[in-house]
Amino acid sequence: MCRCLRRWLVYMPAVLLAVALASCTITRQPAADYRFDNGLWFNGEHFEARNAYVVEGQLQYSEELLPATEIVDLGGQYVVPPYCEAHNHNFGGGAEADSVRKTVNAYLKDGIFYAMMMGSFAYYRERIADQLNSPTSVDVVFANNGLTGSGGHPRRLREWLMEQYDRYPEYTEETLPDAGYFEADTLEEMREKWSLILAGQPDFIKVMVLYSEEYDLRKDDPAYYGSRGLDPDLLPTLVEWAHAEGLRIAVHVETDFDMRVSLEAGADIIAHIPSNSNPEILSDETIALAKHAGADLVTTFTVANRYRIRSPERYATTIDAQRTNLPRLIEAGIPVAIGSDNTQGTSRSEAEHLARLGVVDNLTLLHMWTDYCAQVVFPGRNIGRLDQGYEASFLVLEGNPLVDFDNAYRISLRVKDGRLLNLAH
Ligand SMILES: [Zn+2]
Repeated sequence: MCRCLRRWLVYMPAVLLAVALASCTITRQPAADYRFDNGLWFNGEHFEARNAYVVEGQLQYSEELLPATEIVDLGGQYVVPPYCEAHNHNFGGGAEADSVRKTVNAYLKDGIFYAMMMGSFAYYRERIADQLNSPTSVDVVFANNGLTGSGGHPRRLREWLMEQYDRYPEYTEETLPDAGYFEADTLEEMREKWSLILAGQPDFIKVMVLYSEEYDLRKDDPAYYGSRGLDPDLLPTLVEWAHAEGLRIAVHVETDFDMRVSLEAGADIIAHIPSNSNPEILSDETIALAKHAGADLVTTFTVANRYRIRSPERYATTIDAQRTNLPRLIEAGIPVAIGSDNTQGTSRSEAEHLARLGVVDNLTLLHMWTDYCAQVVFPGRNIGRLDQGYEASFLVLEGNPLVDFDNAYRISLRVKDGRLLNLAH
């Protein structure tokens, strides 16, 4: 019983009891679930000592030491926002429903709480939905599978994964179209596929625009099977349809030209910055356009690793192009997000790759993996930063990642949605 209520009971007539109860309830502060002592909290620029609290799932700070149900001593460690993956396919990408908990744990172990699936099956997504988007799992958004031109990417890849690895046992050559990819060459075909895509209730739309400067050349040539995409002339209409449904649109691009036509069409997300697998140098015009359009850009530079052994020369020139492109985008003030497209791993591999490139400072790299990425995956949600009132999700690191980025991987504690995560289950 609170002290003011006891006073009311002793001195005031019983008829006022109801009033007293009401006033006690109103003045009571919500109790903090946790207080974190001796932590150094990332404020977007550097680390500062703060008294931090988790109150009703939100981060709160106070100058004073207030009581809490549980007190955690962080012992001078460093607190950063959770990490993030802006491009993968390893949730809902195939018949892996049995191993989804393993993938979730790999993400959580690496500190990655938010993920964007840039192409996966609505059917498999449905099967694993109850294992995602909860306080003890990863928060994931899905494009489902995307739109392409006839014989375009990812058709060849899907057929190969089905035949060689039996990734889609529920599908056949006949049923894979309109599930693993959606092909359209005309406005009428695109309209037909659009209603099928919407029926899968995607969180955003994915479309393939590959080597579009050679669209006419590649369109019917079997040599380019799987290495082409949608007619770039159809793109502005598709963007219009997506926006009318309140859906963002992410574009798989390969070349500087692809990126330019996508931005001109009003695309929201460039799902791969050119030079992820080709030695493609971005033009000044495209960078200026990206800045002006405010589109989200995702790295996926580890894609180049598949050429390391197969084609060392292509690998070397592609890495050189990455070293040229990335600092120019950052100097232009574009908040580039980390996405790996690494279906065998997590975006940690991309962060390590970008750190190794040696062209981005640690502060920028941390932003790319936290708030820049979180705003691509869940725009408008209060995540990716440690601001007052933001969702109480964060990582505790043993050392300062601004001094040595390897400290970003030394995670001693994970807090998601106001709860301490235990990865032992
Ligand atoms: Zn991808």
